[in-house]
Amino acid sequence: MESCLRQISRVEDRLHAFISYNADRALADATAADNDRANGADIRSKPFLGIPIAIKDVIAVKDHPLTCGSRILGNFISPYDATVIEKLRAAGAVIFGRLNMDEFAMGSSTENSAFGPTRNPWDLGRIAGGSSGGSAAAVTADECMAALGSDTGGSIRQPAALCGCVGLKPTYGRVSRYGLVAFASSLDQIGPLTKSVRDAARLLGVLSGVDPRDSTSVPEPQLDFELALDRDVKGVKIGLPKEYFIGGLDPEVNEAVHQAIRQMESLGVEFVEVSLPHTEYAIATYYIIATAEASANLARFDGVRYGRRVEGSDPYEMYCRTRGEGFGAEVKRRIILGTYVLSSGYYDAYYLRAQKVRTLIRQDFLKAFEKVDLLLTPTTPTPAFCLGEKMENPLEMYLYDIFTLSCNLAGICGLSLPCGFSSNPKLPIGLQLLGKPFGEELLLRVGHSYEQSTPWHREKPPGESQRSEEPDRILY
Ligand code: GLN
Repeated sequence: MESCLRQISRVEDRLHAFISYNADRALADATAADNDRANGADIRSKPFLGIPIAIKDVIAVKDHPLTCGSRILGNFISPYDATVIEKLRAAGAVIFGRLNMDEFAMGSSTENSAFGPTRNPWDLGRIAGGSSGGSAAAVTADECMAALGSDTGGSIRQPAALCGCVGLKPTYGRVSRYGLVAFASSLDQIGPLTKSVRDAARLLGVLSGVDPRDSTSVPEPQLDFELALDRDVKGVKIGLPKEYFIGGLDPEVNEAVHQAIRQMESLGVEFVEVSLPHTEYAIATYYIIATAEASANLARFDGVRYGRRVEGSDPYEMYCRTRGEGFGAEVKRRIILGTYVLSSGYYDAYYLRAQKVRTLIRQDFLKAFEKVDLLLTPTTPTPAFCLGEKMENPLEMYLYDIFTLSCNLAGICGLSLPCGFSSNPKLPIGLQLLGKPFGEELLLRVGHSYEQSTPWHREKPPGESQRSEEPDRILY
């Protein structure tokens, strides 16, 4: 914890990965963990004892602020712990810090945060990705040992790719969302951002499992994901969806991903081309379903029960002022879009149709998985873009999610991990592995064996080389 706080004091002014943190409280919790350890705590039942883990500011941590990157929750303190937080605490983790994010997780660059953007540790003029940009930047810059994020259309994997760390979106239903502030309930998942695939596997083991407080969580057997990591990957069959290797893909991203394919071939993995024919409808489908669900979920922020209230002469004026001043432009845009696609007369043409196309997209994946074990794609079309570059053009921002959001529509699992760098400027490039529903074991195994055969995950952002004592993964 001390080492993370030292690093925070060195880099946080520049990065702005955190919305808030409380150093005294973090040290007190770390001291308690030390005492636990000194008193002989069983490390097998508390595998994260004393490990500092920071949390995206959309997941409830009792008695800590919970802003969702929004003014409307600017002064809100969470009265309870999310299930994932309870689980991390039981595993001994030191939960500290609230990580920056796009407001209500709506965005791809963390520029929609009411508290200002997070910067990319590799180039301060560029985005850290989003919406879990704070999580990815903090992990990459060693401000924490691991972080939790949420992923509705790519918000864990995309910032992980742009900052150069590992990001895992578990299968829908694998991890309880109790205590995650809902954006789009049929798409949202919580997952880890880490310095290595092994850490992601360890965290998933702690986070996963059925929860009576989240009826969408699924009673799959609790697996030891780490145990599976070191098994052979020979003969694993991976599909390359032809719709993902298209014009508009940055040549250096394309080259890095193809080099990764050759590397995996040398480990015994086999590749075949596959087709996901409905890919071209994914963005339109996602932005209908996600906004529809968001418009319903965000109705609860009315100035009556949560957070901020701006008074008015009657309740109607109070609602209007509270929501008008409390929400940022992107959130308003989505509420308006979502209300529109659900309104009578348009429901059938937009929402219902999008649900049907969503089924086709899911079937594309399930059909592909009859032939192959996993899929491999770039995580993003280009490395991190410059701050401000897409802020005036929401559609361009939406298009940036092209490779990540089908995974959420299909409800499958996805992992992003570093696979190289662009040359000028030097920026991380991420590759994405997609797995069958509840296929995280194989996803992590292939990710791990690739990672361990390449140097990418050990590279550190520039200007950070004075750092000495920080371990590059969670040590036990
Ligand atoms: N960028 C996508 C959006 O803006 C996905 C965000 C997310 O996964 N939370 O909706």
